[in-house]
Amino acid sequence: MINFDVEPEFQEQIDWVEKFAKEEIEPLDNFFRIGKTKDGEPLTKEGWNAIRRHIEHLKQRVKDQGLWGFHLGPELGGPGLGQVKLCLLNEKLGRTRMGPTLFGCQAPDTGNMELIAHNGTEDQKKNYMQPLLEGTKRSAYSMTEPHAGEPGEFICSAQRDGDQWVISGEKWFTSNGANADFLIVMAITNPDAPLMERASMFLVDRDTPGVEIVRNVHTIGTSLQENYNTSGGGGHAYIRYNDVRIPRENLLGEEGAGFVGSQTRLSGGRVHHAMRAVGTCTKALDMMCERALSRKSKGQLLSELQMVQQDIADSYVELTQFRLHVLYTAWLIDKTQAYSREIRKHIASIKITAAKLNHDIVYRAIHLHGALGMSNETPLADMWMAAPQMGIQDGATEAHKSNLTKLLLRDYDASPDLFPTYHLPKLIEAAQDKIESIISA
Ligand SMILES: Cc1cc2nc3c(=O)[nH]c(=O)nc-3n(C[C@H](O)[C@H](O)[C@H](O)COP(=O)(O)OP(=O)(O)OC[C@H]3O[C@@H](n4cnc5c(N)ncnc54)[C@H](O)[C@@H]3O)c2cc1C
Repeated sequence: MINFDVEPEFQEQIDWVEKFAKEEIEPLDNFFRIGKTKDGEPLTKEGWNAIRRHIEHLKQRVKDQGLWGFHLGPELGGPGLGQVKLCLLNEKLGRTRMGPTLFGCQAPDTGNMELIAHNGTEDQKKNYMQPLLEGTKRSAYSMTEPHAGEPGEFICSAQRDGDQWVISGEKWFTSNGANADFLIVMAITNPDAPLMERASMFLVDRDTPGVEIVRNVHTIGTSLQENYNTSGGGGHAYIRYNDVRIPRENLLGEEGAGFVGSQTRLSGGRVHHAMRAVGTCTKALDMMCERALSRKSKGQLLSELQMVQQDIADSYVELTQFRLHVLYTAWLIDKTQAYSREIRKHIASIKITAAKLNHDIVYRAIHLHGALGMSNETPLADMWMAAPQMGIQDGATEAHKSNLTKLLLRDYDASPDLFPTYHLPKLIEAAQDKIESIISA
């Protein structure tokens, strides 16, 4: 039997996260929007140190609550909640910006931890995964290239030279690349192999000679000046690997298994993005509802206008369907512990919907807020800047639609005849034959 209830003990955890997000994380988010005290002064060094200590204190509270790294199984020091419970918590964190960092489940470290857990040697787990788990190192995932996001087009290569691998080429949009202690780099190791056996993954310390941060690219809405601060500060690094020499044992997983490994990483990441998108869209809908009940036009509340009602109703219906689809996908993953073809259909579907709803609902919320919506004085401004990202990062929506359709069509065959199998004249003739045989029996 399908059960939509949550055990009371876990409901308490969800409620704790919701309260913690509202009382502790959202104030931090809001402070960092401006980074100055009330008197307009930038924070002093001591001020920043106090904030750092406060953040560590909040992380400790998350640990005390047993929720640090809640995406991880017990073998990796996490609570092993499974994907459905992960959804219910991620929905709450999706309303915040700093939530994932405070809970030790920030991208791209989460996916990288899982990659090393699944593919790494004992030494790699000790030296690279363990510090990520403890939050003492940061990582990045370096796959997309400046000239192509599609794996079949990649050219950054790695060649064996004695006991070393030599990586040469360029990568771009490596999130957190300039800040990371190490990078997981996808490089072509056998260009003549079939596509899925062409590339391998490597663990590269960022301070290895030859790793050059060309620029630290930022997304829409950020000053271009930021791109030339290559010593950290977030962003998505444009990186040149100039004959970077790494030890042979820094190959992550089997040689030639890079693209297969990346599918595991990206599949999990896409579900987590979708979970947080539920939170973002719910927050936008909450804002729409409050505004519609607060604002008047021609003597009427906006909530009494039918087109406003339509926008709110459409948003609620679409969001509820999306949320259930995300939970169902999570439930399937928990049940089978795999990313089977069936599950990949659902992951592609929720990735497509996450992008669409992040756009549609946030747009409607902005529109309903009029000039206030267009201002930079509500959280909608950030949400709007981020909305198109969901349709690009972890693969463009069109690529997911194309893959989804290919997966769906594998369950169908072309009609064996000139007319389709559901052509009524043929079906009626067959029905007549059947009925006549019943009558004559
Ligand atoms: C915020 C953000 C963070 C990112 N972080 C990382 C990271 O940490 N590491 C990393 O390696 N990469 C990262 N990326 C890069 C991301 O994975 C790529 O942007 C994505 O895979 C698309 O590749 P592209 O940018 O080269 O677009 P392209 O492949 O050039 O696609 C551009 C457009 O072409 C069309 N198109 C492309 N393919 C198809 C198709 N198969 N069918 C139909 N139309 C198609 C679509 O309209 C698509 O939007 C990040 C991107 C963003 C926006």
